[in-house]
Amino acid sequence: MAAADITELQRPSTTAEGQAREALTAMLVQIVGPAGVSVDLDQRRLHSQDVWSVADQTVELVVAPGSVDELSRVAAAVSAAGFAIAPRGGGMSYTSAYIPTVDKTVSLDMSRMNRVLRVNADDMTVTVEAGCTWAALDAALAPLGLRTPFWGPMSGLTSTIGGGLSQLNAMFGAGHYGTSSESVVALTVVLSDGRTLRTGARGPDGDTPFYRHYGPDLAGLFCGDAGVFGIKAQVTLRLMRRPQHEGYVSFAFSTGEALLTAMAEFTRAGLSSEMCAFDPGLTKVRMKRASLATDVKTLGAVIAKDKNLVSGLFSAAKIAMGGRDYIEAEEYSVHLIAEGRSKAGVAEDLDAARAIAAAQGGREIENTIAKVIRANPFPPLNSMLGPEGERWAPVHGVVSLSQGPALFAALQALFAEMGPAFEQQGVYTGYLFTAMSTNALIIEPVFYWPEARHALIDAAVEPQHLARLPTLPENPAATALVAEARRRVIEICSAFGCGHFQIGRAYPYRESRDEAAWSLIEAVKATLDPAGALNPGGLGLTATPTRPA
Ligand SMILES: Cc1cc2nc3c(=O)[nH]c(=O)nc-3n(C[C@H](O)[C@H](O)[C@H](O)COP(=O)(O)OP(=O)(O)OC[C@H]3O[C@@H](n4cnc5c(N)ncnc54)[C@H](O)[C@@H]3O)c2cc1C
Repeated sequence: MAAADITELQRPSTTAEGQAREALTAMLVQIVGPAGVSVDLDQRRLHSQDVWSVADQTVELVVAPGSVDELSRVAAAVSAAGFAIAPRGGGMSYTSAYIPTVDKTVSLDMSRMNRVLRVNADDMTVTVEAGCTWAALDAALAPLGLRTPFWGPMSGLTSTIGGGLSQLNAMFGAGHYGTSSESVVALTVVLSDGRTLRTGARGPDGDTPFYRHYGPDLAGLFCGDAGVFGIKAQVTLRLMRRPQHEGYVSFAFSTGEALLTAMAEFTRAGLSSEMCAFDPGLTKVRMKRASLATDVKTLGAVIAKDKNLVSGLFSAAKIAMGGRDYIEAEEYSVHLIAEGRSKAGVAEDLDAARAIAAAQGGREIENTIAKVIRANPFPPLNSMLGPEGERWAPVHGVVSLSQGPALFAALQALFAEMGPAFEQQGVYTGYLFTAMSTNALIIEPVFYWPEARHALIDAAVEPQHLARLPTLPENPAATALVAEARRRVIEICSAFGCGHFQIGRAYPYRESRDEAAWSLIEAVKATLDPAGALNPGGLGLTATPTRPA
């Protein structure tokens, strides 16, 4: 703990609220030690922001437990003192999910619970602490020739497995294996009163989980819960052997409709372990943002990934010479990664993708982007700023395969209507598209606008990248316009019956449920978190934490 913190702690408070905070702080220091508790104002402010929002309130304390036992005692102490608990993983979300909504909130920083606890290659499971990042897990498994089926979002350098299960994720492995929660075997969850709840069939010692579906799916209850039901403490995930062969193919299409029709058919056919696509707007941003420095790093990663140095150098040379000009300014591009047990199987999947693309008028282009994505899956999180230092915020809908083109057309109509206002405020847009398992597309409009950065962005983006960007002044009018556009995108998604990841406090989950389903959600919340301490207002639940009698 910093000296300033200690001085602040030692200064006796005169108000009842201040005294309650002091008593709680002292108790937490006893549980986790002084290094695990912070009252520092900058730290508290940092934990009161996410990528999109800055809360009106500031958390009172930041506490970082180092074990399940400490976590359990911290949760019990915080909720008994009548404070709300806001679990925070990497803090890389943008749906106001963990920021404080009530005055008395403690930020629960999971960064000390970041270990890979057990790789059990016999039972094909791995158990991690929930604050472990996806990048750290993959780095631990790679030398063993193992992987989890879903193996991370692109934010995985910083974002955590606990955060990814609370929000659900798209990206690596999702094409074959679905979202993050579909790779879960079992959870150890700490409830807000400190009790521990464990799920799954757990082996002879009760602590070697190996199979998820023993009775009702209790693990599923905590997946996508926006952290309102319990605190994920430990997570056991499935393992698989790393596929021996990978292949890459990219196509360009002249319209979004052709792109999404082809993506739906790639998805039905189950051809790619992951795919991502960009509209012309996002392609322009990517071209502007890329710098020589990142290119050199990327080429190094491409060479390192290839088992054969000569072909790695050849790929890198092709990427360097091909530059980024192989996608025409107004084209939509999609990038597929296929993986499998045999080279021939992968080649067949790529050929099947070529036939599907050709049927939609797609043109095969250099597969550079697909290769680069796989060579460097967890890059630094610099893409959370635009090429001129603009702010960035995505919003998305998970849409059925048949409805993708119609949803896209409706969103395009919205952006055309808002075009003059966007232009006036300097707002511009792009789209990222991806797919989920064999049954959904994800359409993610992305906004860029001139607005000052807040502390969370400065903390997350690499300093050398920040140094190259201008510092922009505050621009509440442009931010309000983006907020309105995000809200209207969500309204359109609702009309298409979309699902959403990262529900947090942004997506209308409650409104989309029938009465019986919502009663169940409320009953579960009342049973697991009777004080309403965890992320009040998350998932559309009531925002007022009540102190237990
Ligand atoms: C540059 C960038 C790229 C991204 N790429 C992707 C992508 O490819 N795919 C994708 O799906 N998302 C992506 N995201 C979004 C985001 O990173 C993910 O949603 C990620 O899962 C957030 O994880 P986190 O650990 O940062 O969670 P946080 O933001 O810290 O928390 C998210 C939610 O989970 C809860 N929570 C966190 N830990 C726990 C816990 N242990 N127990 C209970 N609740 C908990 C929090 O209270 C909050 O409600 C990206 C974001 C950025 C900035």
